[in-house]
Amino acid sequence: MNIKKNDKVKILSGKDKGKTGKVLQVLPATEKTEAKISVEALNLAIKHLRPRRENEKGQRIEFPAFMNASNVSLLCPKCGKATRVGHKVVESTEGKKAKKFRVCKKCQEIIE
Ligand SMILES: [Zn+2]
Repeated sequence: MNIKKNDKVKILSGKDKGKTGKVLQVLPATEKTEAKISVEALNLAIKHLRPRRENEKGQRIEFPAFMNASNVSLLCPKCGKATRVGHKVVESTEGKKAKKFRVCKKCQEIIE
């Protein structure tokens, strides 16, 4: 999974194509489904809430619906471009475990 919570992403398809936003939630892929994400204020869907009491009004609540993670591209925080994500393993000097980082394919900078 190359996209994490709080990443900035660009939408590649659908009604919000070209828009950017912050990732709110990530659902990892399962055997049957792709990884899904929701993005702040994008891909909005409307949920109708029925009134629970007689003198109450029903409500419409807009919320960001999940979409396939493959529909977005990561926005690199370093160069600001939509990019594919590579990986880089950095060996540690003090005998600690090597760490794997995400790397921007455009500017080659490490993405936290
Ligand atoms: Zn970059």
